[in-house]
Amino acid sequence: MDNYFDEPILITRPLFPTKQNMARKISEVWDSKWLTNNGTQHQELEKQLKDYLNVDQLSLFSNGTLALLLGLKAFNLTGEVITTPFTFPATVQALDWNGLTPVFCDINPQTLTIDATKIEALITENTSAILAVHVFGNPCDVEEIQAIADRHQLKVIYDGAHVFGAKLNGQPISNYGDMTMFSFHATKLFNTIEGGALAFKDEAIARKLDLLKNFGLANPEEVVLSGINAKMNEVQAAMGLEVLKLVDEERGKRHNLKKTYERHLAHLPGIRVLTTLVNDSSSYQYFVIEIDEKMYGKSRDWLHDELKKYNVFTRKYFYPLCSDFEWYKHLESAQGEKLPQAQKSVGQVLAMPFYGELGVESVMKICGIIEELHVNHNRLSNVI
Ligand SMILES: *Cc1c(COP(=O)(O)O)cnc(C)c1O
Repeated sequence: MDNYFDEPILITRPLFPTKQNMARKISEVWDSKWLTNNGTQHQELEKQLKDYLNVDQLSLFSNGTLALLLGLKAFNLTGEVITTPFTFPATVQALDWNGLTPVFCDINPQTLTIDATKIEALITENTSAILAVHVFGNPCDVEEIQAIADRHQLKVIYDGAHVFGAKLNGQPISNYGDMTMFSFHATKLFNTIEGGALAFKDEAIARKLDLLKNFGLANPEEVVLSGINAKMNEVQAAMGLEVLKLVDEERGKRHNLKKTYERHLAHLPGIRVLTTLVNDSSSYQYFVIEIDEKMYGKSRDWLHDELKKYNVFTRKYFYPLCSDFEWYKHLESAQGEKLPQAQKSVGQVLAMPFYGELGVESVMKICGIIEELHVNHNRLSNVI
C-alpha cells in the first residue's frame, strides 16, 4: 500500500517545549529549592492563565478529574445531578466520588452535548445541579441551561476539558455557568503533563478550593475540613508556562488541518464533520467525524479497523456510553430507550488524527484512504 504510514499515527501528540527552554525552566525550579505548595511557577501560571482565559477566579489542580471532583464538592451538592452519558468517564466519576447520583439526559444530535429540551423533565426535588460537557468544543445550549437552572435554583457546572481558550458570543466560554473545569492532560491542546483548573467567579469558592486541595489545612496546625491532595506541583506549572507559549501557533496549525479535512471529506456521502458548528467557540481539541453506515456503505467500526491497516489509529470517542457502565446501568435514566440519540451517536463517532506536527500532507493522505475505502466498497457492491 503506497499510502501506508511508516510510523503509527495517533489522534494526538502532546505539545512539547524545546529541550533547551524546558531545561532553563527546570533550572529555575531547582534554584528555588521549592517543588510544590503554591510556589513561584504555580503563582505565575495561575496569573498567566487568568489573563489568557480572561477569567476572574482560577484554581490549579494536579489533574482535571480532581479539579471537577473538588469543584462539585465546593458547592455542597446533594442528591441527583443531571448530566450526559456521552462523555469521558471522569465526568460522571467525579459525581460518584461525591456520593452524587447521575441522572442521564439524552443528547442533541447536532452538537452531541446535553439536550437542553429534555433536562426539565428529569428534575426532581433531589436535583441539585446540572453537569454539562462542551463535547469536542461544541458549546452546550448555555442560555437555555441557565434559564432552567434559574427556574429551579440549580448550580450549573461545565466540563470544559475540550474548550481551552474557546469563546462564545464574543466572551470566554467559562463565563457561562457557576464553574468550568479545564483539563491540562498531555492529550489536551494545552498541557501541564497532567493538570487541570477550575474557572469561576466567587472569591469564597477560591478559598474553599485552596483548603479542599490541601488536606483542609488552614495553617500547619489547623484542619478545618475534610480535604484531599490535589495540588499542581512546580514542574507541572513550569511545563505549563512553556507550553502556553506554543498554544496559539498550534491552534493555527490545527485550523489548517481542520480546513483540509473538511475540504476533502465534505463530498463523501455519509460523513459529517462534528466540529464546525460555532466558529468562535472552536478549541481545536479534536477533529471528529460521524459515519452514517447507510450512506457511507460501511460502519464506523469497520472504518476504525480498516484504517489500522494503514497505521492510522483513530478513537471511538466516547464509546462506551457512561450510562452503560456496570454500576450505573440499573438506574432508570440509564435505560437505552430513554437515550435514543446517545445510543445512535456512540456508534457513529470517530476522532481523527489531529495535531499540528501531523501536517496538511498527512491529513490529505488520510482523507485519500477514507475516500478510497468508500469507492472500493461501491465498486464491489456494483459488481455484486
Ligand atoms: C480529559 C477529560 C477529562 C479528564 O481530565 P484529566 O485531566 O485527564 O483528569 C474529563 N472530561 C473530559 C470530557 C475529558 O476529555
